[in-house]
Amino acid sequence: MKPQQKTAFRRALLTWYAKGQRDLPWRKTRDPYAILISEVMLQQTQAERVAPKYLNWLKRYPDFASLAAAPPGDVIRAWSGLGYNRRAVQLHEIAKRVMQEFGGALPRDFEQLRSFKGLGDYTAAAIACFAFDGKRAVVDTNVRRVLARIFLGGREATATKIDRLAQSVIPERRAYDWNQAVMELGATVCLSRDPRCAVCPVRCHCRAAPTIHRRLAKSAKGKARVKSQPFKESRRYYRGRIVEYLRALSNGSGATLAEVGKAVKKGAGEREWVAGLVQGLEKEGLVAVWRERGQVRVGLP
Ligand code: SF4
Repeated sequence: MKPQQKTAFRRALLTWYAKGQRDLPWRKTRDPYAILISEVMLQQTQAERVAPKYLNWLKRYPDFASLAAAPPGDVIRAWSGLGYNRRAVQLHEIAKRVMQEFGGALPRDFEQLRSFKGLGDYTAAAIACFAFDGKRAVVDTNVRRVLARIFLGGREATATKIDRLAQSVIPERRAYDWNQAVMELGATVCLSRDPRCAVCPVRCHCRAAPTIHRRLAKSAKGKARVKSQPFKESRRYYRGRIVEYLRALSNGSGATLAEVGKAVKKGAGEREWVAGLVQGLEKEGLVAVWRERGQVRVGLP
């Protein structure tokens, strides 16, 4: 893209974003703690589902100190409904480290942010930009797809190439709005399977626009139908069911492995299978396992 075209492209996207952005609660704050919570919740979960959970979470744990001081079981309970429960444990660990090593404030430095377990390139970049105004491209799968379509006509490209491209198009002093705008475009217009090119604000700058629908139809047709395991039979599904079951127990004394197995899957003889799942959850800090009167019991930590 020539410099003049780049300017016009940026203007078109920023103007569209300023007029029609979704009203999302994390766009009203620059508090690093709140930004962290929203970004971790938004990994794997849709914005509309996250919004009420995010507001409730901030009421319950408004800062690093309150989160760090909470019992891990309570934090896992508060995560209910968001899935991928390991994220709750990681947030709790981050809060404790922030309190112990950083005096209660997240560091601004990208590399220091990356040193926290659970904060990958994407989340660290999001915090650096959205909380601290760093000029960093915030690049997730959606943003990669959007940029590959606009600049490369939808051709495959390495993550490094796209990341470099993403960094090179950020306008001076508008990194926050720019990153939000590209993400907004990916979430609402330039959709993975069905891009809405007819209403796209940057259609005239997009190299993929003339052929995208034909190409997507062709690739969908040509794709071999691979039978994948249904979600309801996956380990992730049963791991989630176990945590959900333990969340609902109010007695604090947990349950035996047999009770856990019975609660999450019909049929007897699943104890070895349940024990394997529980062991994995225990390793990740999502459940606690102890012995009581010769029996193994499981509960939230
Ligand atoms: S014109 Fe179509 S393919 Fe290009 S960015 Fe817009 S929605 Fe995506």
